[in-house]
Amino acid sequence: MSSATLIDGKAVASRVREDVAREVAALPAPPGLATILIGDDPASSVYVRNKRKQCVKAGMRDIHRHLSADITQAAVAAEIDRLAADPRVTGVLLQLPLPPHLNAAELIDRIPPDKDVDGLTETNAGRLALGRPGLRPCTPAGVLRLLDEIGADLSGAHAVVVGRSDLVGKPMAQLLLQRHATVTMCHSRTHDLAAVTRQADLLVVAAGVPRLIGADAVKLGATVIDVGIHHTSNGLCGDVDAKAQDVAGWITPVPGGVGPMTIAMLLRNTLTATRNAL
Ligand code: NAP
Repeated sequence: MSSATLIDGKAVASRVREDVAREVAALPAPPGLATILIGDDPASSVYVRNKRKQCVKAGMRDIHRHLSADITQAAVAAEIDRLAADPRVTGVLLQLPLPPHLNAAELIDRIPPDKDVDGLTETNAGRLALGRPGLRPCTPAGVLRLLDEIGADLSGAHAVVVGRSDLVGKPMAQLLLQRHATVTMCHSRTHDLAAVTRQADLLVVAAGVPRLIGADAVKLGATVIDVGIHHTSNGLCGDVDAKAQDVAGWITPVPGGVGPMTIAMLLRNTLTATRNAL
């Protein structure tokens, strides 16, 4: 039995935020991050509040629109267009999920790709798939940054990604492929998930199922990245069981692993979008 080294996402995120703040201070005009929150979902409200807070701390302009839960598709589209046309706005973020009567894909694609700081438009997804420069989704970009921090050797490594969402799993697999990993993707229809994950040198889990991956599903010495985050009666937990720490070589804790990286990479993307517009 080994005992894994924890990957300190809090510390890395804090360094990313400091670097961004320093680089923002050297710009001729501050970046402007526009956040759009629709409705009053408590989790989304907390996420947006944190994004706005960190944006101000990094020296960026905070531009916020809180729209009512029963707003029409056309009215949201018009608001996105207004923000996108505002020269002070260098990044636009539409907080997901949206109320079910709205067509999220259509609204996301209204964001000009060069202001799409969440990296979720068709154009940025296409740029990623083709290996061209573009804004990358924040959570997988944050995972890659953590892997670089620990000096993970991705070239030729067998990376298994559990989850195939547009937000995390798919872009994660693309980013790892670009770094020359041999990538296997798993999802809810995968037969004998543990048999596949046990082959992973690098295991990234973004399934949204508490403790889906047990210690027996992890190869000895593997690097394990747990994207999941769940509130339970015993506090927060991830998609990976804590006992996996006895088997893994490196592992992200929950909380304090991937979570803090998402906002840090959002700030980094907003800075990149601002620079690209200069
Ligand atoms: P999602 O859209 O619900 O996607 C979940 C994916 O996991 C789907 O592809 C699904 O497969 C797969 N899956 C579900 N159950 C499975 C099972 N039993 N075995 C194998 N695969 C399974 O979720 P998401 O947006 O990618 O987020 C995943 C998790 O990460 C959630 O816990 C979320 O809260 C967390 N998250 C954290 C951050 C952060 O900043 N730390 C950011 C984003 C998300 P199918 O496609 O077949 O349905």
